[in-house]
Amino acid sequence: MNIILIGAQGSGKGTQADLLSQAFGVRHIATGDLFRQALQEKTKFGLQAQVYTDRGELVPDEITVAMVLHCIEEPESAHGVVLDGFPRTLAQAQALDNELQHIGRQIDATVYLNVSRDELLSRLAGRYICRAHQHVYHVKFRPPKVTGVCDLDGSELYQRSDDIGEAIERRLNIFFHETMQVLDYYREQQKLKEVDADPSVKQVQAALLSQLAGNIF
Ligand SMILES: [Zn+2]
Repeated sequence: MNIILIGAQGSGKGTQADLLSQAFGVRHIATGDLFRQALQEKTKFGLQAQVYTDRGELVPDEITVAMVLHCIEEPESAHGVVLDGFPRTLAQAQALDNELQHIGRQIDATVYLNVSRDELLSRLAGRYICRAHQHVYHVKFRPPKVTGVCDLDGSELYQRSDDIGEAIERRLNIFFHETMQVLDYYREQQKLKEVDADPSVKQVQAALLSQLAGNIF
């Protein structure tokens, strides 16, 4: 089963993707991690992408799609995948479908973790990250033992500049605009499922599993 998990930053998407991966024995493919790894290990895709990242440009969709597809074809993905962080745009969703068709695969379900704008704002506004290892804290949901200090390595905690004020608003506007088009695309294919992701991690996971149960049995 191949699943796409879509959600804004702060929707708990990474956590839910991990839980789904364990529940269904499918491989969690986080495209952000995939890129970092490809760049670090200077793989074929890493070298192709580096040309663009060195110039401060976005990596073209063809490279991202090829990299994701390569991952889907690996033996570790035999039971399926849960895609996290891709596709972000309508063009990427269409390109992904095209390429999957060539290898006789398809997306079985797309799940949207729906978090209200107000809830996202309050989650993101409370986020702090440590300087040494980017460990993530939250003033409300995961406060450090000592204010302003990382529990794990003692380094200073700070807020990312794009987690503050107008920058969050701008980031959310872009996310919602692009995501709505992707959601419409999968809705037309009758593959879209929506989960209210305002409640706790456990409640969201239960809702997710029940939504996807129809795809397995
Ligand atoms: Zn830390």
